[in-house]
Amino acid sequence: MNRRNFIEKSSLGTAVVLTSPVTSKAQDIFKAQKKESPNIPIVIATWDVPNASSAAWDILRNSGDSLEAVEKGVKVEEADVNNQSVGKGGRPDRDGNVTLDACIMDKDGNCGAVVFLQNILHPISVARKVMEETPHVMLAGKGAEQFAYEKGFEKTNLLTEKSKQEWLEWKKKSEYKPIINIENHDTIGMLALDENGDIAGACTTSGMAYKMEGRVGDSPIIGAGLFVDNEVGGATATGVGEEVVRTVGSFLIVELMRQGKSPQEACEEGVRRIIAKNKNKLDFQIGFIAINKKGETGAFCIQPGFSFRTFSREGHINTPSKSYI
Ligand code: ASP
Repeated sequence: MNRRNFIEKSSLGTAVVLTSPVTSKAQDIFKAQKKESPNIPIVIATWDVPNASSAAWDILRNSGDSLEAVEKGVKVEEADVNNQSVGKGGRPDRDGNVTLDACIMDKDGNCGAVVFLQNILHPISVARKVMEETPHVMLAGKGAEQFAYEKGFEKTNLLTEKSKQEWLEWKKKSEYKPIINIENHDTIGMLALDENGDIAGACTTSGMAYKMEGRVGDSPIIGAGLFVDNEVGGATATGVGEEVVRTVGSFLIVELMRQGKSPQEACEEGVRRIIAKNKNKLDFQIGFIAINKKGETGAFCIQPGFSFRTFSREGHINTPSKSYI
């Protein structure tokens, strides 16, 4: 029995007694909201990723749970060689190695992450295994890779010919300059609210193209690239991760929602905090999306060009995000 199972099992009896009145009240409120809301269930994802949001929606509309939905959803992008910011086909670091970061968080606040992971197609699934089958939250590099092999993941070459040729071209000047929106970044972050009213989130990326070897951004950092609190809502980020880490952006947004802000207001405030630290050099992109327990969503970014996908009974929609500039 690992540490988490032990803690859960040994505290189960008390937890049931202590939380059942609260839980049933929360469930009653949720059932009432659900009747009125066409937004439950719902999935929201960073960028225009219709295949990923469809995969998540397939789970949600069949009464599946939010954790399953976000994992299945982001895996679509991890496997898509045309998405050069995530998984296979991702742009490499400056030494030509594709290194992946991912994290996942469930309705109970459990979380798992992998950073600087190489040769594995689905880092999000490894992150889920870290969450569910180890006493840890995060595994890095060779340790994460070894763990993945032990769990049956296969060694995969992640560097496609296209990304290799672009990297060789980049190497001629070796100028490191993130290009806004187009595209040496666009992480997929996904949040889902399922039929039972439970929220989960996932975030996966190959990080900034041509980054230094070993660089890790915000995407696998719980609280920065992703945060879920099932009492309140969830948030996730895309863009220059260093800036998101500095404000612990996703945690901040969830806390702002806890204090009463709508997802939209909270995302706007999250971006403003980053802007306040960078007044004279707003030459980068950050985008946040968020969701609350009612299935209301929000998004905000610095530069125009960021959009997000939602899928609910209201439809399958790509919405350009409001931006600061
Ligand atoms: N946030 C990611 C990182 O910094 C990149 C991105 O979203 O585009 O690694």
